[in-house]
Amino acid sequence: MMKIAVIGAGPAGLYFSLLAKKHNPKHEIKVYEQNLRGATYGWGVVFSDVGLSFLKEADPEFFKEFTAHHECCDYMEIVHQDTRVQVHGNHFSRTARIDMLNTLNAACERLGIDVVYEQRITDIEALSQQVDLVVAADGGNSAIRTQYAAHFQPQFERRRNKFVWYGTRQRFHPVSLIFRSHESGGVFIAHAYQYSPELSTFLVEVDPETWDKCGLDKMSEEESKDFCEKVFAPDLGGNELLTNRSLWFEANIVRNENWTYDNIVLLGDALRTVHFSLGSGTRMAMQDAIALNNAIAEHPSDLKQAFAAFEAQRRTASSSFQTAAAKSLDWYENVATRMDLDPISFTYDYMRRTDKVSHQDLKEKDPHFIAAYEQLHPDFKQ
Ligand SMILES: Cc1cc2nc3c(=O)[nH]c(=O)nc-3n(C[C@H](O)[C@H](O)[C@H](O)COP(=O)(O)OP(=O)(O)OC[C@H]3O[C@@H](n4cnc5c(N)ncnc54)[C@H](O)[C@@H]3O)c2cc1C
Repeated sequence: MMKIAVIGAGPAGLYFSLLAKKHNPKHEIKVYEQNLRGATYGWGVVFSDVGLSFLKEADPEFFKEFTAHHECCDYMEIVHQDTRVQVHGNHFSRTARIDMLNTLNAACERLGIDVVYEQRITDIEALSQQVDLVVAADGGNSAIRTQYAAHFQPQFERRRNKFVWYGTRQRFHPVSLIFRSHESGGVFIAHAYQYSPELSTFLVEVDPETWDKCGLDKMSEEESKDFCEKVFAPDLGGNELLTNRSLWFEANIVRNENWTYDNIVLLGDALRTVHFSLGSGTRMAMQDAIALNNAIAEHPSDLKQAFAAFEAQRRTASSSFQTAAAKSLDWYENVATRMDLDPISFTYDYMRRTDKVSHQDLKEKDPHFIAAYEQLHPDFKQ
């Protein structure tokens, strides 16, 4: 039996608590969350079939409950030069972030986990002395990581593009990536996907020069929203964009030299952030939770060994995911140089941007798409 304090009721903290309590009902687990119960930012979250398969394997019962109302689609769509190109064989499952957190919270409370809202942990030193394990799942701006920065040695990389999260009632059934050349000379990108019967996430991305040129640096939340509605008018079908603290921000990529300190372990966004455009942050956070639970289950009475097992399971996957995510960010940041490509070649270039997906992989997933590409490029050699 362990006494465990979890800081943060996001997907990392709640999912870890659930798995740990299921594995050993004698664990005493308390989750501390600074926000009000039911408060959330963001709109929907999206999982690929690979992401979902981890959840299914880790806890089939929760998986069933979690995915019961997901919106699913087996293809994605790239909109370039006003042409929609579909790529099949890419399964994506979507849900509202708030529904995900509520389902996790309910499952935790059913098992007797104490989830305390409106309590911000400020003195981690004192807390860590009262428990066997502290799970620092306190998000991308982790105060615990900052408090022990000399030990964790976090590194930060601020990426150049600007992002803003919106919602919309326009339903983007496939995960959709929309590229719109703007009269200012830049390119606006929307990452959109339906996550409930009525709503879609609509994340807008633009390079900082275009952002400045368009005066978005001086606009209010409402003015920015109106501006983006005009840019994406051909895609929104007359629907407005919806705001929820929708302020422009830049991706801050976090990694840590050390993942643990004494009896404290970093988890989820506190440990590492990835490109959030397609919800991989949520997926990585939940995979961290699975790995930490497995490690503690394997070494219930030796935290040092458990931490080593956790790192062994996650280090390589985490850095290779971050490398792929960095390539993806590079692709988006340099998209202006590719805007002259025809829609099929542009989509092909997008699909291969991380070097993780080969020509053959694409051929197996969507032979029609690859046939169209090969017809345009008869001299293409793999
Ligand atoms: C503005 C924004 C919008 C986003 N929207 C989306 C989206 O629409 N779709 C998507 O897939 N991903 C989205 N993401 C990314 C995604 O939320 C994260 O990758 C994912 O939630 C990581 O999970 P986590 O549990 O590690 O951290 P988080 O989900 O960030 O959870 C950390 C929790 O810890 C709490 N906390 C922090 N410090 C303390 C403290 N000292 N005491 C108590 N509690 C504390 C926070 O309030 C928070 O609830 C968004 C990220 C940001 C920054």
